[in-house]
Order: sequence, then C-alpha cells, then structure tokens
Amino acid sequence: MEDCIFCKIIKEEIPSQKIYEDELVLSFKDISPGAPVHVLIIPKKHIESINLLTKEDSKIISHIFLIAKDIAKKLGIDEKGYRIVSNTGEDGGQTVPHVHFHLLGGRSLNWPPG
Ligand code: 5GP
Ligand code: ZN
Repeated sequence: MEDCIFCKIIKEEIPSQKIYEDELVLSFKDISPGAPVHVLIIPKKHIESINLLTKEDSKIISHIFLIAKDIAKKLGIDEKGYRIVSNTGEDGGQTVPHVHFHLLGGRSLNWPPG
C-alpha cells in the first residue's frame, strides 16, 4: 500500500534495522523503543487491522508467533521472558494501520499497562 510507512519499510524505501526477514514477515527494531529489546514483527501483506484478518491469514499469524519466539531466543530474552502486544484501533493505541506485533523484553514489564 503506497502511503503505508510499514509497506515502505518492507520495500526499503524507508531504512530499518532488520532483525529477521522471510517471504511472509519482516522484523525490525522499533524506532522509539519502550524497553531494552523492542522489535516489531509485521506481515509483508498489508492488512490494516486485526479486525480485518481472515482465515486466509491464519498461516501468516501463526508464523509470526513461531518467529517471535525464535527472535526472543536470538536476542537473549527467552528465558527471563517477554511480552508480545498488538495494539488495535483507537482505544488500543494503534498508530500505524498495518498489522504489527511488538516484542518487548530486557527488563521487568509493568502490568497492567497504563
Ligand atoms: P503502534 O503505536 O501502532 O502500536 O505501533 C507502531 C510502532 O511503530 C511504534 O512503536 C513506533 O515507534 C513504530 N514506528 C513508527 N514509525 C516507524 C519507523 O519509521 N521505523 C521504525 N523502525 N518504527 C516505527
Ligand atoms: Zn502496509
């Protein structure tokens, strides 16, 4: 999608610090980290919201979680733990309308979030 910042990152029109990439997903460091480890994992397919996911997207979404635990291990946070979050819509605090999952760790994380 032309105006989408994450689609531009996928097309390398905007630079990013890549952590992992394959045919279905891309993972890169969040530009404004909220924890010592803060990466985003996104589908290469432009899907605006979790609300718009269909059964056809099942493979992508399950793949994202399998990749997430591998990234957590690669970044050394698997044993102490981490959080995977997907903010959705206005109340959820979603600011980029391309489905994405935050992988956060490297310190004890507050719960519930503010
Ligand atoms: P949301 O607010 O939708 O849950 O998450 C969007 C995330 O994307 C934010 O944490 C924000 O810091 C990150 N972000 C926004 N623009 C860019 C960018 O150009 N590059 C990178 N690496 N992260 C971005
Ligand atoms: Zn997009």
